[in-house]
Amino acid sequence: MSVVDAIERQRHFFESGQTRSLEFRREQLNKFKIMLKDNEKLLMESIHSDFKKSSFETYTTELALVYLEIDEALKKLKKWTSRKKVRHNLVNLPGQSYILPEPLGICLVIGAWNYPIQLSLAPAVAVLAAGNTVILKPSELPSNTSHTLAQLIKTYFAPGLFSVIEGGVPETTELLQQKFDKIFFTGSVAVGRIVYEAAARQLTPVTLELGGKSPAIIAPDADIKITAKRITWGKFLNAGQTCIAPDYVLVHKSLADVFTRAMVDEIKKSDYHIDNDNYVQIINEQHFDRLVSLINAHNVYHGGAYNKTDRTIEPTLLTKVHLDDEIMEDEIFGPLLPIIVYEDIDEILEYVNSKPKPLACYIFTRDAKIKDKVIQNISFGGGVVNDTLLHISNTHLPFGGVGDSGIGKYHGYEGFRTFSHFKSIMEKRFFYEPDLRFSPYSSGKLNWIKRLLGLS
Ligand code: NAD
Repeated sequence: MSVVDAIERQRHFFESGQTRSLEFRREQLNKFKIMLKDNEKLLMESIHSDFKKSSFETYTTELALVYLEIDEALKKLKKWTSRKKVRHNLVNLPGQSYILPEPLGICLVIGAWNYPIQLSLAPAVAVLAAGNTVILKPSELPSNTSHTLAQLIKTYFAPGLFSVIEGGVPETTELLQQKFDKIFFTGSVAVGRIVYEAAARQLTPVTLELGGKSPAIIAPDADIKITAKRITWGKFLNAGQTCIAPDYVLVHKSLADVFTRAMVDEIKKSDYHIDNDNYVQIINEQHFDRLVSLINAHNVYHGGAYNKTDRTIEPTLLTKVHLDDEIMEDEIFGPLLPIIVYEDIDEILEYVNSKPKPLACYIFTRDAKIKDKVIQNISFGGGVVNDTLLHISNTHLPFGGVGDSGIGKYHGYEGFRTFSHFKSIMEKRFFYEPDLRFSPYSSGKLNWIKRLLGLS
Protein backbone atom coordinates (compact mmCIF):
# COMPACT_ATOMS: atom_id res chain seq x y z
CA MET A 1 0.00 0.00 0.00
CA SER A 2 1.32 3.46 -0.91
CA VAL A 3 2.00 6.12 1.70
CA VAL A 4 -0.85 8.23 0.30
CA ASP A 5 -3.28 5.30 0.56
CA ALA A 6 -2.16 4.53 4.12
CA ILE A 7 -2.85 8.12 5.17
CA GLU A 8 -6.18 8.12 3.33
CA ARG A 9 -7.18 4.93 5.16
CA GLN A 10 -6.37 6.57 8.48
CA ARG A 11 -8.21 9.76 7.54
CA HIS A 12 -11.28 7.66 6.78
CA PHE A 13 -10.95 5.81 10.09
CA PHE A 14 -10.50 9.01 12.07
CA GLU A 15 -13.45 10.67 10.41
CA SER A 16 -15.67 7.73 11.35
CA GLY A 17 -15.43 9.14 14.90
CA GLN A 18 -14.58 5.78 16.52
CA THR A 19 -11.37 6.98 18.12
CA ARG A 20 -13.09 9.64 20.20
CA SER A 21 -14.90 7.62 22.85
CA LEU A 22 -13.25 6.86 26.15
CA GLU A 23 -14.17 3.15 25.83
CA PHE A 24 -12.47 2.87 22.45
CA ARG A 25 -9.29 4.52 23.70
CA ARG A 26 -9.18 2.30 26.80
CA GLU A 27 -9.72 -0.78 24.66
CA GLN A 28 -6.75 0.17 22.44
CA LEU A 29 -4.49 0.88 25.40
CA ASN A 30 -5.35 -2.46 26.99
CA LYS A 31 -4.68 -4.16 23.66
CA PHE A 32 -1.34 -2.32 23.47
CA LYS A 33 -0.34 -3.77 26.83
CA ILE A 34 -1.43 -7.27 25.86
CA MET A 35 0.56 -7.02 22.62
CA LEU A 36 3.72 -6.19 24.57
CA LYS A 37 3.15 -8.69 27.39
CA ASP A 38 2.47 -11.53 24.96
CA ASN A 39 5.56 -10.76 22.93
CA GLU A 40 8.17 -9.64 25.45
CA LYS A 41 10.46 -12.51 24.57
CA LEU A 42 10.21 -11.87 20.84
CA LEU A 43 10.95 -8.16 21.31
CA MET A 44 13.92 -8.93 23.57
CA GLU A 45 15.33 -11.39 21.04
CA SER A 46 14.84 -8.94 18.17
CA ILE A 47 16.68 -6.15 19.90
CA HIS A 48 19.46 -8.49 21.06
CA SER A 49 19.97 -9.67 17.49
CA ASP A 50 20.19 -6.03 16.35
CA PHE A 51 22.80 -4.72 18.78
CA LYS A 52 23.07 -7.20 21.65
CA LYS A 53 21.06 -5.28 24.19
CA SER A 54 20.43 -7.56 27.20
CA SER A 55 16.90 -8.55 28.26
CA PHE A 56 17.52 -6.74 31.55
CA GLU A 57 18.19 -3.44 29.76
CA THR A 58 15.38 -4.03 27.26
CA TYR A 59 12.93 -4.52 30.11
CA THR A 60 14.13 -1.66 32.32
CA THR A 61 14.85 0.97 29.66
CA GLU A 62 12.32 0.10 26.97
CA LEU A 63 9.32 -2.05 27.93
CA ALA A 64 8.91 -0.78 31.50
CA LEU A 65 8.70 2.83 30.31
CA VAL A 66 6.01 1.97 27.77
CA TYR A 67 4.03 -0.01 30.40
CA LEU A 68 4.23 2.99 32.76
CA GLU A 69 2.88 5.27 30.02
CA ILE A 70 -0.02 2.89 29.29
CA ASP A 71 -0.91 2.47 32.97
CA GLU A 72 -0.81 6.20 33.63
CA ALA A 73 -3.03 6.90 30.59
CA LEU A 74 -5.53 4.20 31.59
CA LYS A 75 -5.71 5.57 35.11
CA LYS A 76 -6.07 9.24 34.17
CA LEU A 77 -7.83 9.21 30.81
CA LYS A 78 -11.22 10.18 32.20
CA LYS A 79 -9.76 13.19 33.97
CA TRP A 80 -7.58 14.20 31.01
CA THR A 81 -10.44 14.07 28.51
CA SER A 82 -13.02 15.84 30.66
CA ARG A 83 -13.88 19.45 29.94
CA LYS A 84 -12.30 21.96 32.29
CA LYS A 85 -14.35 24.90 33.45
CA VAL A 86 -12.41 28.14 33.67
CA ARG A 87 -13.31 31.48 35.25
CA HIS A 88 -15.89 33.35 33.28
CA ASN A 89 -15.37 37.10 33.14
CA LEU A 90 -17.82 39.65 34.39
CA VAL A 91 -18.35 41.41 31.08
CA ASN A 92 -19.60 38.19 29.49
CA LEU A 93 -22.17 37.30 32.12
CA PRO A 94 -24.44 35.42 31.97
CA GLY A 95 -22.63 32.43 30.46
CA GLN A 96 -19.82 29.99 31.09
CA SER A 97 -16.35 29.23 29.71
CA TYR A 98 -14.56 25.91 29.41
CA ILE A 99 -11.77 24.07 27.62
CA LEU A 100 -12.41 20.83 25.78
CA PRO A 101 -9.54 18.57 24.64
CA GLU A 102 -10.01 17.03 21.20
CA PRO A 103 -7.83 14.74 19.11
CA LEU A 104 -5.69 16.30 16.37
CA GLY A 105 -6.22 13.59 13.75
CA ILE A 106 -3.56 11.63 11.85
CA CYS A 107 -0.18 11.62 13.62
CA LEU A 108 3.20 10.58 12.28
CA VAL A 109 5.73 9.24 14.80
CA ILE A 110 9.33 8.90 13.58
CA GLY A 111 11.54 6.87 15.93
CA ALA A 112 15.28 6.80 16.62
CA TRP A 113 17.36 3.62 16.76
CA ASN A 114 18.95 3.75 20.19
CA TYR A 115 15.83 2.75 22.16
CA PRO A 116 13.85 1.37 19.24
CA ILE A 117 10.88 0.11 21.29
CA GLN A 118 10.43 2.89 23.81
CA LEU A 119 11.05 5.83 21.46
CA SER A 120 8.55 4.46 18.94
CA LEU A 121 5.88 3.16 21.28
CA ALA A 122 5.75 5.68 24.16
CA PRO A 123 4.68 8.48 21.75
CA ALA A 124 2.22 6.05 20.10
CA VAL A 125 0.57 5.41 23.50
CA ALA A 126 0.03 9.17 23.90
CA VAL A 127 -1.31 9.45 20.33
CA LEU A 128 -3.94 6.76 20.96
CA ALA A 129 -4.80 8.02 24.46
CA ALA A 130 -5.55 11.41 22.91
CA GLY A 131 -7.94 9.77 20.39
CA ASN A 132 -5.85 10.04 17.21
CA THR A 133 -4.62 7.57 14.63
CA VAL A 134 -0.91 6.88 14.20
CA ILE A 135 1.52 5.99 11.45
CA LEU A 136 4.79 4.86 12.99
CA LYS A 137 8.08 5.02 11.08
CA PRO A 138 10.58 3.18 13.31
CA SER A 139 14.30 3.59 12.74
CA GLU A 140 15.56 1.27 10.01
CA LEU A 141 18.91 0.63 11.72
CA PRO A 142 17.78 -2.00 14.26
CA SER A 143 16.05 -3.81 11.37
CA ASN A 144 14.88 -6.90 13.32
CA THR A 145 13.13 -4.75 15.92
CA SER A 146 11.60 -2.62 13.16
CA HIS A 147 10.20 -5.76 11.42
CA THR A 148 8.92 -7.18 14.73
CA LEU A 149 7.13 -3.94 15.61
CA ALA A 150 5.57 -3.80 12.13
CA GLN A 151 4.40 -7.40 12.38
CA LEU A 152 2.97 -7.09 15.90
CA ILE A 153 1.14 -3.83 15.25
CA LYS A 154 -0.36 -5.31 12.08
CA THR A 155 -1.58 -8.32 14.06
CA TYR A 156 -3.08 -6.44 16.99
CA PHE A 157 -4.42 -3.15 15.56
CA ALA A 158 -6.73 -2.03 12.78
CA PRO A 159 -4.45 -0.46 10.14
CA GLY A 160 -6.73 2.57 9.91
CA LEU A 161 -5.89 3.25 13.55
CA PHE A 162 -2.24 2.22 13.95
CA SER A 163 0.09 1.15 11.18
CA VAL A 164 3.80 0.97 10.54
CA ILE A 165 5.71 2.14 7.49
CA GLU A 166 9.23 0.76 7.59
CA GLY A 167 12.21 2.30 5.87
CA GLY A 168 14.96 4.90 5.98
CA VAL A 169 15.59 8.24 4.33
CA PRO A 170 13.55 7.76 1.08
CA GLU A 171 10.48 6.45 2.93
CA THR A 172 10.68 9.18 5.60
CA THR A 173 11.14 11.82 2.91
CA GLU A 174 8.01 10.59 1.16
CA LEU A 175 6.07 10.62 4.42
CA LEU A 176 7.23 14.15 5.16
CA GLN A 177 5.79 15.36 1.86
CA GLN A 178 2.28 14.45 3.05
CA LYS A 179 -0.11 16.38 5.21
CA PHE A 180 -0.38 15.11 8.81
CA ASP A 181 -2.10 16.72 11.76
CA LYS A 182 0.99 16.25 13.92
CA ILE A 183 4.56 15.01 13.47
CA PHE A 184 6.50 13.66 16.45
CA PHE A 185 10.18 13.14 15.70
CA THR A 186 12.97 11.66 17.82
CA GLY A 187 16.49 11.84 16.44
CA SER A 188 19.44 14.05 15.66
CA VAL A 189 19.49 17.83 15.47
CA ALA A 190 20.43 17.67 11.76
CA VAL A 191 17.44 15.51 10.77
CA GLY A 192 15.23 17.48 13.17
CA ARG A 193 15.87 20.53 10.96
CA ILE A 194 14.79 18.55 7.85
CA VAL A 195 11.60 17.43 9.59
CA TYR A 196 10.82 20.95 10.82
CA GLU A 197 11.27 22.42 7.34
CA ALA A 198 9.07 19.79 5.73
CA ALA A 199 6.38 20.27 8.39
CA ALA A 200 6.45 24.04 7.90
CA ARG A 201 5.53 23.60 4.24
CA GLN A 202 2.35 21.76 5.30
CA LEU A 203 1.80 23.92 8.38
CA THR A 204 1.94 20.76 10.48
CA PRO A 205 2.71 21.13 14.21
CA VAL A 206 5.78 19.23 15.38
CA THR A 207 7.39 17.90 18.49
CA LEU A 208 11.13 17.40 18.09
CA GLU A 209 12.97 15.24 20.61
CA LEU A 210 16.60 15.89 19.74
CA GLY A 211 20.01 15.44 21.35
CA GLY A 212 22.99 17.42 22.58
CA LYS A 213 25.93 17.36 24.95
CA SER A 214 24.60 16.79 28.47
CA PRO A 215 27.06 17.59 31.28
CA ALA A 216 27.49 15.88 34.66
CA ILE A 217 28.89 18.35 37.17
CA ILE A 218 30.58 17.10 40.33
CA ALA A 219 30.89 19.59 43.19
CA PRO A 220 33.67 19.33 45.83
CA ASP A 221 31.26 17.90 48.44
CA ALA A 222 29.85 15.03 46.35
CA ASP A 223 29.89 11.42 47.59
CA ILE A 224 32.41 10.10 45.12
CA LYS A 225 31.70 6.39 45.33
CA ILE A 226 27.99 6.83 44.73
CA THR A 227 28.57 9.48 42.07
CA ALA A 228 30.96 7.19 40.18
CA LYS A 229 28.53 4.27 40.38
CA ARG A 230 25.62 6.33 39.06
CA ILE A 231 27.63 7.98 36.28
CA THR A 232 29.03 4.61 35.19
CA TRP A 233 25.48 3.30 34.85
CA GLY A 234 24.11 6.40 33.10
CA LYS A 235 27.00 6.62 30.68
CA PHE A 236 27.76 3.01 29.75
CA LEU A 237 24.23 1.61 29.70
CA ASN A 238 23.36 0.93 26.04
CA ALA A 239 27.10 1.54 25.38
CA GLY A 240 26.61 5.27 25.83
CA GLN A 241 24.03 5.44 23.04
CA THR A 242 21.47 7.26 25.20
CA CYS A 243 20.20 10.73 24.36
CA ILE A 244 20.28 11.81 28.02
CA ALA A 245 23.55 10.03 28.93
CA PRO A 246 26.10 12.27 30.62
CA ASP A 247 28.16 13.26 27.58
CA TYR A 248 31.09 14.58 29.63
CA VAL A 249 32.01 15.11 33.28
CA LEU A 250 33.10 18.36 34.88
CA VAL A 251 34.74 17.43 38.18
CA HIS A 252 36.13 19.74 40.83
CA LYS A 253 39.94 19.72 41.01
CA SER A 254 39.92 18.49 44.63
CA LEU A 255 38.13 15.25 43.62
CA ALA A 256 39.48 14.63 40.13
CA ASP A 257 41.92 11.79 40.93
CA VAL A 258 39.73 9.98 43.42
CA PHE A 259 36.72 10.26 41.08
CA THR A 260 38.61 8.90 38.07
CA ARG A 261 39.89 5.95 40.13
CA ALA A 262 36.39 5.30 41.49
CA MET A 263 35.08 5.24 37.90
CA VAL A 264 37.64 2.60 36.98
CA ASP A 265 36.56 0.46 39.98
CA GLU A 266 32.90 0.76 38.99
CA ILE A 267 33.57 -0.11 35.35
CA LYS A 268 35.57 -3.18 36.43
CA LYS A 269 32.73 -4.36 38.67
CA SER A 270 30.10 -3.91 35.93
CA ASP A 271 28.98 -6.07 32.98
CA TYR A 272 30.18 -3.41 30.55
CA HIS A 273 33.04 -5.32 28.90
CA ILE A 274 33.64 -6.07 25.24
CA ASP A 275 33.93 -9.81 25.90
CA ASN A 276 30.46 -9.95 27.49
CA ASP A 277 27.75 -11.21 25.12
CA ASN A 278 25.30 -8.72 26.63
CA TYR A 279 27.50 -5.66 26.20
CA VAL A 280 25.70 -3.46 23.70
CA GLN A 281 27.22 -3.05 20.24
CA ILE A 282 27.71 0.25 18.47
CA ILE A 283 24.79 0.42 16.07
CA ASN A 284 26.76 0.46 12.80
CA GLU A 285 30.22 0.71 11.28
CA GLN A 286 29.94 4.41 10.54
CA HIS A 287 29.29 5.26 14.20
CA PHE A 288 31.94 2.73 15.29
CA ASP A 289 34.61 4.40 13.11
CA ARG A 290 33.60 7.86 14.29
CA LEU A 291 34.00 6.82 17.95
CA VAL A 292 37.31 5.02 17.40
CA SER A 293 38.77 8.12 15.72
CA LEU A 294 37.82 10.12 18.82
CA ILE A 295 39.64 7.62 21.07
CA ASN A 296 42.76 7.77 18.95
CA ALA A 297 42.90 11.53 19.21
CA HIS A 298 42.95 11.45 23.01
CA ASN A 299 44.68 10.53 26.18
CA VAL A 300 43.10 7.30 27.39
CA TYR A 301 43.05 6.95 31.18
CA HIS A 302 41.11 3.69 31.14
CA GLY A 303 39.70 1.40 28.44
CA GLY A 304 40.28 2.34 24.82
CA ALA A 305 40.09 -1.25 23.51
CA TYR A 306 37.65 -2.10 20.74
CA ASN A 307 36.62 -4.97 18.49
CA LYS A 308 35.81 -3.95 14.95
CA THR A 309 34.25 -7.27 13.92
CA ASP A 310 31.87 -7.15 16.86
CA ARG A 311 31.46 -3.34 16.82
CA THR A 312 32.10 -3.09 20.59
CA ILE A 313 34.10 -0.44 22.41
CA GLU A 314 35.34 -0.78 26.00
CA PRO A 315 34.05 1.89 28.43
CA THR A 316 36.72 4.52 27.97
CA LEU A 317 37.73 7.37 30.27
CA LEU A 318 39.52 10.25 28.61
CA THR A 319 41.44 12.71 30.76
CA LYS A 320 43.45 15.78 29.78
CA VAL A 321 40.66 16.77 27.44
CA HIS A 322 40.51 20.47 26.53
CA LEU A 323 37.25 22.29 26.07
CA ASP A 324 38.14 23.16 22.49
CA ASP A 325 39.00 19.55 21.50
CA GLU A 326 36.97 17.89 18.72
CA ILE A 327 35.34 15.50 21.23
CA MET A 328 33.72 18.50 22.91
CA GLU A 329 32.01 19.67 19.69
CA ASP A 330 29.27 17.13 18.95
CA GLU A 331 27.27 14.67 21.05
CA ILE A 332 29.52 11.61 21.60
CA PHE A 333 26.76 9.00 21.66
CA GLY A 334 29.08 6.15 22.62
CA PRO A 335 31.03 4.74 25.60
CA LEU A 336 33.68 7.48 25.73
CA LEU A 337 33.69 9.78 28.73
CA PRO A 338 35.80 12.93 28.76
CA ILE A 339 36.61 13.99 32.32
CA ILE A 340 37.38 17.68 32.61
CA VAL A 341 38.72 19.27 35.77
CA TYR A 342 37.47 22.66 36.95
CA GLU A 343 38.32 25.03 39.77
CA ASP A 344 35.53 27.57 39.71
CA ILE A 345 31.87 26.65 39.24
CA ASP A 346 31.17 30.02 37.59
CA GLU A 347 33.57 29.17 34.77
CA ILE A 348 31.63 25.97 34.16
CA LEU A 349 28.31 27.76 34.01
CA GLU A 350 29.78 30.18 31.50
CA TYR A 351 31.13 27.32 29.39
CA VAL A 352 27.89 25.30 29.34
CA ASN A 353 25.86 28.42 28.62
CA SER A 354 28.09 29.28 25.66
CA LYS A 355 27.02 26.01 23.98
CA PRO A 356 23.64 24.86 22.59
CA LYS A 357 21.18 24.10 25.39
CA PRO A 358 21.63 20.46 26.51
CA LEU A 359 18.87 17.86 26.71
CA ALA A 360 19.92 16.89 30.26
CA CYS A 361 22.17 18.07 33.09
CA TYR A 362 23.29 16.27 36.23
CA ILE A 363 24.66 17.91 39.36
CA PHE A 364 26.23 15.94 42.20
CA THR A 365 26.34 17.87 45.46
CA ARG A 366 24.96 18.09 49.00
CA ASP A 367 25.16 21.85 48.90
CA ALA A 368 21.79 23.50 48.22
CA LYS A 369 23.46 26.71 47.01
CA ILE A 370 25.50 24.90 44.36
CA LYS A 371 22.51 22.81 43.32
CA ASP A 372 20.31 25.89 42.92
CA LYS A 373 23.03 27.78 41.10
CA VAL A 374 23.34 25.06 38.48
CA ILE A 375 19.61 24.44 38.12
CA GLN A 376 18.77 28.12 37.90
CA ASN A 377 21.63 29.30 35.70
CA ILE A 378 21.82 26.59 33.04
CA SER A 379 18.94 26.04 30.64
CA PHE A 380 18.47 22.33 29.85
CA GLY A 381 15.61 19.94 29.04
CA GLY A 382 15.51 18.02 32.33
CA GLY A 383 17.87 16.45 34.81
CA VAL A 384 18.59 14.77 38.10
CA VAL A 385 20.34 15.94 41.24
CA ASN A 386 22.80 13.29 42.50
CA ASP A 387 21.96 10.68 39.86
CA THR A 388 21.63 10.22 36.11
CA LEU A 389 18.83 9.40 33.61
CA LEU A 390 16.11 8.74 36.18
CA HIS A 391 13.94 11.78 35.38
CA ILE A 392 12.83 9.87 32.25
CA SER A 393 11.24 7.19 34.43
CA ASN A 394 8.72 9.44 36.21
CA THR A 395 5.62 9.88 34.03
CA HIS A 396 4.74 13.01 36.02
CA LEU A 397 7.82 14.81 34.70
CA PRO A 398 7.40 16.25 31.18
CA PHE A 399 10.23 14.95 28.98
CA GLY A 400 11.84 16.99 26.21
CA GLY A 401 14.52 19.46 25.26
CA VAL A 402 14.88 23.20 25.00
CA GLY A 403 16.60 25.25 22.30
CA ASP A 404 18.68 22.96 20.07
CA SER A 405 17.81 19.90 22.17
CA GLY A 406 14.16 19.95 21.15
CA ILE A 407 10.74 21.48 20.84
CA GLY A 408 7.83 20.20 22.92
CA LYS A 409 7.43 17.56 25.60
CA TYR A 410 5.75 14.23 26.26
CA HIS A 411 5.24 11.46 28.88
CA GLY A 412 2.13 11.16 31.04
CA TYR A 413 -0.29 14.07 30.79
CA GLU A 414 2.22 16.05 28.73
CA GLY A 415 2.03 13.33 26.05
CA PHE A 416 -1.74 13.60 26.02
CA ARG A 417 -1.42 17.39 25.68
CA THR A 418 1.08 17.03 22.85
CA PHE A 419 -1.42 15.11 20.72
CA SER A 420 -4.53 17.12 21.67
CA HIS A 421 -6.03 20.41 20.70
CA PHE A 422 -7.52 22.34 23.60
CA LYS A 423 -10.65 23.94 22.25
CA SER A 424 -11.78 27.09 24.05
CA ILE A 425 -15.54 27.46 24.32
CA MET A 426 -17.70 30.24 25.68
CA GLU A 427 -21.35 29.34 26.08
CA LYS A 428 -24.11 31.95 26.12
CA ARG A 429 -27.87 31.66 26.42
CA PHE A 430 -30.62 33.51 24.57
CA PHE A 431 -32.01 35.37 27.55
CA TYR A 432 -30.78 38.78 28.70
CA GLU A 433 -29.11 40.97 26.11
CA PRO A 434 -27.28 43.96 27.60
CA ASP A 435 -26.92 46.54 24.90
CA LEU A 436 -23.41 47.69 25.84
CA ARG A 437 -21.28 46.34 22.96
CA PHE A 438 -23.74 47.01 20.17
CA SER A 439 -23.94 50.00 17.91
CA PRO A 440 -24.90 52.79 18.23
CA TYR A 441 -21.83 53.35 20.44
CA SER A 442 -21.63 56.01 23.17
CA SER A 443 -19.12 57.23 25.73
CA GLY A 444 -21.45 56.05 28.50
CA LYS A 445 -21.37 52.49 27.11
CA LEU A 446 -17.57 52.64 26.83
CA ASN A 447 -17.23 53.70 30.45
CA TRP A 448 -19.38 50.75 31.54
CA ILE A 449 -17.33 48.32 29.43
CA LYS A 450 -14.12 49.66 31.00
CA ARG A 451 -15.57 49.18 34.48
CA LEU A 452 -16.73 45.62 33.75
CA LEU A 453 -13.35 44.71 32.27
CA GLY A 454 -11.64 46.17 35.33
CA LEU A 455 -9.78 48.70 33.15
CA SER A 456 -11.19 51.97 34.44
P1 NAD B 1 18.60 10.24 13.10
O1 NAD B 1 18.25 11.68 13.12
O2 NAD B 1 19.71 9.79 12.22
O3 NAD B 1 17.33 9.35 12.67
C1 NAD B 1 16.07 9.50 13.29
C2 NAD B 1 14.99 9.11 12.30
O4 NAD B 1 15.03 9.95 11.17
C3 NAD B 1 15.09 7.67 11.78
O5 NAD B 1 13.81 7.10 11.77
C4 NAD B 1 15.64 7.85 10.37
O6 NAD B 1 15.17 6.86 9.49
C5 NAD B 1 15.12 9.21 9.96
N1 NAD B 1 16.04 9.92 9.07
C6 NAD B 1 17.40 9.86 9.06
N2 NAD B 1 17.90 10.69 8.12
C7 NAD B 1 16.85 11.28 7.53
C8 NAD B 1 16.70 12.23 6.46
N3 NAD B 1 17.78 12.73 5.83
N4 NAD B 1 15.47 12.61 6.11
C9 NAD B 1 14.38 12.12 6.73
N5 NAD B 1 14.45 11.21 7.73
C10 NAD B 1 15.66 10.80 8.13
O7 NAD B 1 18.84 9.88 14.63
P2 NAD B 1 19.32 8.50 15.22
O8 NAD B 1 20.74 8.28 14.79
O9 NAD B 1 18.32 7.45 14.99
O10 NAD B 1 19.31 8.82 16.79
C11 NAD B 1 20.36 9.44 17.43
C12 NAD B 1 20.05 10.88 17.76
O11 NAD B 1 18.76 10.99 18.32
C13 NAD B 1 20.99 11.46 18.79
O12 NAD B 1 21.30 12.78 18.44
C14 NAD B 1 20.19 11.43 20.06
O13 NAD B 1 20.57 12.37 21.03
C15 NAD B 1 18.83 11.70 19.55
N6 NAD B 1 17.84 11.14 20.46
C16 NAD B 1 17.04 11.98 21.13
C17 NAD B 1 16.12 11.45 22.02
C18 NAD B 1 15.20 12.31 22.81
O14 NAD B 1 14.29 11.77 23.42
N7 NAD B 1 15.36 13.62 22.84
C19 NAD B 1 16.05 10.07 22.21
C20 NAD B 1 16.90 9.25 21.49
C21 NAD B 1 17.79 9.80 20.60
